[in-house]
Amino acid sequence: MSTRKLFGTNGIRGLVNVELTPEMAIKVGLAIGTFFGRKNLLLGHDARTSGALFSRAVIAGLTATGCNVYFAGMASTPALQFAVKNHQMDGGVLITASHNPPEYNGIKAIWSDGIEISHEQEVEIENIYFDNKIEFAAWDKLGAVRELSGINDEYIEAIKKHVDTAKIACKRFHVVVDAANSVGGIATPILLRELGCKVTSINANIDGTFPGRLPEPRPESLGELAATVKAVGADMGVAFDGDADRSIFVDEHGVIYWGDKTFAIIIKQFLLKNPGAKIVTPVSSSTLIKDTADAYKGEIEWTKVGSVTVSQKMKEINAKLGGEENGGVFYGSHQAVRDGAMTTALLLDIMAETGQTLSGLVAEQPQYFIEKGKIACPDDKKAAVHEKLYEQVKDLNVSTIDGVKIWFEDGSAILIRPSGTEPVYRLYAEAKNQEKALKLVEDYSLKLKKILETI
Ligand code: MG
Repeated sequence: MSTRKLFGTNGIRGLVNVELTPEMAIKVGLAIGTFFGRKNLLLGHDARTSGALFSRAVIAGLTATGCNVYFAGMASTPALQFAVKNHQMDGGVLITASHNPPEYNGIKAIWSDGIEISHEQEVEIENIYFDNKIEFAAWDKLGAVRELSGINDEYIEAIKKHVDTAKIACKRFHVVVDAANSVGGIATPILLRELGCKVTSINANIDGTFPGRLPEPRPESLGELAATVKAVGADMGVAFDGDADRSIFVDEHGVIYWGDKTFAIIIKQFLLKNPGAKIVTPVSSSTLIKDTADAYKGEIEWTKVGSVTVSQKMKEINAKLGGEENGGVFYGSHQAVRDGAMTTALLLDIMAETGQTLSGLVAEQPQYFIEKGKIACPDDKKAAVHEKLYEQVKDLNVSTIDGVKIWFEDGSAILIRPSGTEPVYRLYAEAKNQEKALKLVEDYSLKLKKILETI
């Protein structure tokens, strides 16, 4: 049934005018409009060159089915998600390809609470699309298109309610913002100035060709941010992905941290204030997350890999904090979705409250070493490999929520997971020293190879 699939792990994504065409976008709009059924939907887009094009194509489809569209223009994904909830919309449609390269764009559908729709709802839309079950509206029942302005100001005000603005302002922090020439440069610099921070911006002008760096905030593309933080003597640097739901941070010495470290800082402070609270995170997350939750009496709810899964789980169990190691933090009191500006404000709040620098907050965390590996495995053998591997390790502390994750008593761990897109198994090991991590990858690679020989 793979030919009947539109949605990937994070909405519909494709190469502009090749995999994702205007015709297709109109039909996706028709299918989403039919799914919602003559409702009020918010629509907005990120800074990509094709944002205006796909917005109009999707709006054509939505209004043809009788949905009214409130067009919010260009904004970050979390600002648009917040606006869906704040304006009591029935849902929303976002035109964004998040961290993908500039030649991509995408479409994702949002429920009335601002959270991405569930997988089951995506299948409903796919069925409408592929079975041509579009419900066109009569000429006098077409939807209207209205402009919706002011959503960024409302979003900034909402974030400020969750932090101690006076305490942050006293510190007069200096923050460098790297917006990747996209929507991360719209609300966050204003938010930071309103929090009394001095702001230095790089890659700040909106340019959908992403001339400054690629939209994915990988450590190797954040050299300019790290150098700028040091050059201007800032307290912190933050880099956003293309739609500004993920944020990666740089400390005052220009050291770039992967998202697990900043998430762990937030977990600790959150648990000190909310003892026993639940933390939602994918099973791929670092042992640092588990250690921090254990140390401060939190309870981890593991999920499959994917941000929508984290949001849906938070909704299901009413958890108030979630996170991914790629820099996605979900602060449920604000909204149960990844939010780069909210994450930035939370870190400043913690720095103001504890009086610690970002490097100081990271220095108190246990150190882990990570090793990765991969083993070729045909797609049709992946399920059998999983079964046999589980059979061999089932007496250990193991989870099969997504692949096979094993936690060992010495604090090391390994995740063995089939790739969703390539004929390989991937291995991610963590340990308190490099040798142990390497040995875990070697041992389990060998186990996988032996299993493959028997299938
Ligand atoms: Mg994103």
